[in-house]
Amino acid sequence: MTYMRPNPPAPSEACHAIVIGAGLGGLASAMRLGAKGWRVTVIDRLDRPGGRGSSITQGGHRFDLGPTIVTVPQGLRELWAACGRDFDSDVTLRPMEPFYEIRFPDGETFTARQDDAAMQAEVARISPRDVAGYNAFLKDSEARYWFGFEDLGRRSMHRFGDLLKVLPKFAMLRADRSVYAHAAGRVKDEHLRFALSFHPLFIGGDPFNVTSMYILVSHLEKAFGVHYAMGGVQAIAAAMARVVEAQGGEVLHDTEVDEILTEGGRASGVRLASGEVMRAAIVVSNADAGHTYSRLLRNLPRKRWTDARLNRSRWSMGLYVWYFGTQGTSGMWKDVGHHSIVVGPRYRDHIKDIFIRGKLADDMSLYVHRPSVTDPSVAPEGGDTFYALSPVPHLGFGGVDWAEEEPRYRAKMARMLEERLIPGFQDRITESLVFTPETFRDRYLSPFGAGFSIEPRILQSAYFRPHNVSEEVPGLYLAGAGTHPGAGLPGVVGTAEVLGTLVPDAPRRASMPDLPLPDLPMAAE
Ligand SMILES: Cc1cc2nc3c(=O)[nH]c(=O)nc-3n(C[C@H](O)[C@H](O)[C@H](O)COP(=O)(O)OP(=O)(O)OC[C@H]3O[C@@H](n4cnc5c(N)ncnc54)[C@H](O)[C@@H]3O)c2cc1C
Repeated sequence: MTYMRPNPPAPSEACHAIVIGAGLGGLASAMRLGAKGWRVTVIDRLDRPGGRGSSITQGGHRFDLGPTIVTVPQGLRELWAACGRDFDSDVTLRPMEPFYEIRFPDGETFTARQDDAAMQAEVARISPRDVAGYNAFLKDSEARYWFGFEDLGRRSMHRFGDLLKVLPKFAMLRADRSVYAHAAGRVKDEHLRFALSFHPLFIGGDPFNVTSMYILVSHLEKAFGVHYAMGGVQAIAAAMARVVEAQGGEVLHDTEVDEILTEGGRASGVRLASGEVMRAAIVVSNADAGHTYSRLLRNLPRKRWTDARLNRSRWSMGLYVWYFGTQGTSGMWKDVGHHSIVVGPRYRDHIKDIFIRGKLADDMSLYVHRPSVTDPSVAPEGGDTFYALSPVPHLGFGGVDWAEEEPRYRAKMARMLEERLIPGFQDRITESLVFTPETFRDRYLSPFGAGFSIEPRILQSAYFRPHNVSEEVPGLYLAGAGTHPGAGLPGVVGTAEVLGTLVPDAPRRASMPDLPLPDLPMAAE
């Protein structure tokens, strides 16, 4: 598969938009801009589209590096429809049944499914007295979905007035409480409290501190299901890149942006690491918001997103991910499905180690991905492809020498996998690849090697997150995990939807050389 279009036609500057980063948020933004008539150039330093949603193939095993769970598929369908296309013609989604299994250290399990009766029975099996509380939790989750996802999540929150308007509703929904506190208020059993509160970890949030608005994820799963994209999320990214090209845009790879340029007080293009300058009427950065401001705008005096403020911000956790392929195992571990969560001995205290103390703990909790049970294309015949992910402190805390620590940490992870999930797997490994927070820093240019950019705490969400229209310079827009509404596939596709409401249509008379640049809004302080 080749992603590069050699010798693209030089687009006219007045209707030319540059998108830095071909992550899912950047590609979705490019599609939105293409639908508005902009000629888009997407630029990414990696060799393929998808960013964290890209893949690496080794010895016939395709390792989908990041996102595995596709929720809210209608977000993708709406994006495609906005471009006059049909998502389901381009990508095949498989509903997961069950969604995932959680294995607790005391031998208890919790299997999450879409079916209501099955879920009631699962809760009743574990803790009969919690069924009513569980049902109340689901109602709470739905209420937060309508407000947090369908209302707030789909509009720009860059004006202070927007924030003031929603504060009473935030107060009414007790957004000041954490996800865990909300779950604990509804159910007594600790297994269930875990099962209802761990979801923020999938978008980089500490369940004991992240706003309880995020309990909306339970409703998302129940109402819209959990899906897997055949070919991995890489297949979604590749399909997005094809739409951008069909709209007349181009997606450049192995190309790094060194600086966002300004002229007359507005964004005017980019300088590449090679020194080449590319000009455009608007620039969208899908690079991490921290990288965008501290590195790409390093020569611009900044009012809000100064280096000091970025350093003070709370960043999401880092990730240690071990990707491995096995041979001769396709009939083995029949009770291990596509998604498993293997819970370690501690919850609250372990989360504190990761997010507050910044200490690499001896114990761990794992998310394990085994796509080969759904998608034969991920492994050679008879083999399996896995990844095991453990949340760890980000690099900002210091103190972990990953070069030294990595083999030890992998050995501990292997022991846990042997004992709790896939006995005997180590003898059958044929391919192996490890990502530490240092890989996230170096591959995605992610500040502090964070897995999911800025942590989604209440004072770092909505108005308080880097805005989708830059506070610093007109003509610059931001999309992706570090902006509103936030991380996760539905989140970053949402950032592009919001961006689409802020960027004007491309000027029509694009071929006229003296066409004035369009008036562009800038976020109010
Ligand atoms: C291991 C893991 C598992 C996850 N699991 C899930 C899941 O199951 N479901 C879910 O919904 N979400 C999941 N997520 C979260 C989700 O993957 C991310 O939030 C989302 O993909 C981030 O997209 P993004 O658009 O912000 O950009 P990114 O994916 O971060 O892409 C940004 C791109 O910009 C490029 N770039 C940066 N700087 C420059 C520069 N100067 N010049 C050129 N290019 C540059 C980078 O190379 C990168 O390709 C997971 C994330 C990880 C890491």
